[in-house]
Amino acid sequence: MKRVYNFGAGPAMLPLPVLEKARDEFLDWNGLGMSVIEVSHRSAEFEALLTETDTLLRELAGLPDNFDILYVHGSAQMQFAAIPLNLMPLKSAHKAAFIESGHWTVLARKEAARYGKAVTVASSEASNFNHIPDYDVSTLDADTSYVHITSNNTLFGTRWNEFPDTGDIPLVADMTSELMSRVIDYNKFGLVFAGLQKNLGPSGMAAVMIRKDLIGHAMPQTPNLLNYDTYAKNHSMPNTINTFAVYMMNLVLKWLKDQGGVPAIEKINAQKAQLIYDAIDATDFYRGAAQKAHRSHMNITFTLADSGLDKAFLSEAEARGLYALKGHRVVGGMRASIYNAMPLAGCQALVDFMQDFERRHG
Ligand SMILES: *Cc1c(COP(=O)(O)O)cnc(C)c1O
Repeated sequence: MKRVYNFGAGPAMLPLPVLEKARDEFLDWNGLGMSVIEVSHRSAEFEALLTETDTLLRELAGLPDNFDILYVHGSAQMQFAAIPLNLMPLKSAHKAAFIESGHWTVLARKEAARYGKAVTVASSEASNFNHIPDYDVSTLDADTSYVHITSNNTLFGTRWNEFPDTGDIPLVADMTSELMSRVIDYNKFGLVFAGLQKNLGPSGMAAVMIRKDLIGHAMPQTPNLLNYDTYAKNHSMPNTINTFAVYMMNLVLKWLKDQGGVPAIEKINAQKAQLIYDAIDATDFYRGAAQKAHRSHMNITFTLADSGLDKAFLSEAEARGLYALKGHRVVGGMRASIYNAMPLAGCQALVDFMQDFERRHG
């Protein structure tokens, strides 16, 4: 067996001990003589797994008691519809504000526009989203139902370092590419959501952490399975939940706890990112794509000064087991996604390769 370092943006690398455990107990989970994907979601064993997952997530995130955790279908992008359907009615204007820091915020705004007023209040599009736009939240219209941001911009490699205080207007954050990678003060938010496939497990499901008082306001035409109230009242099981995703997330969270939790992984993530950014900044051969002050610790975007070498870079990297480094086409160049599961050794292997590649081609 040969495992590569997978720098892909998502679905992404998962911790090896998690995959090994899933493999080892795949045919017989919990001594039940069947796989976890064969067990009823209504069984006592599965209910216990779900409850344990709630507890782990709440404890590791440091989630305040006035938040509910919901596991919802359709992963992150389904929330681009669910959020306006559930939250726009908080104010009669049915208006949401978007601080556009990248591709995913733009998509979320376009989807929200189907249900009410979706207003771009700031954008860094003019500089190809290479930074988080400045915005004074005190200038928000008082009749705004919520403010939508993307905390880490997966394509462009930027992140919000500090989050704005939006006062009475709930702040909604898409944290798909960084949930549980750094300490977050959830009191600043009304709703945080993430598709699992980057930092938490397999694709197809999202975790939504929502302030309880924001549940129960959905538009009447909201599909039942997009209504947060439906999930809150049924322990996220109004219908068959993605049992395998819950199981995998449970294992990932236990692994995270073994690493020392979010504060510990945050330190390692900073170290990993610094290693690669230092290698980029040490030479003119490579160029960081994002403004330094807003650099992501999860997705590191860079270009080669000579883009004619891109193909050689990618094929030589792959030959060394450094997989999926090709950047998104809107940025070009390279992207190293280094989520929680990417070990420091993987980042070091990338840096060693980058330096070696420059020596041979520079
Ligand atoms: C990957 C990603 C998404 C899309 O997730 P899906 O699960 O494919 O819907 C949305 N937002 C962000 C920030 C992402 O990184």
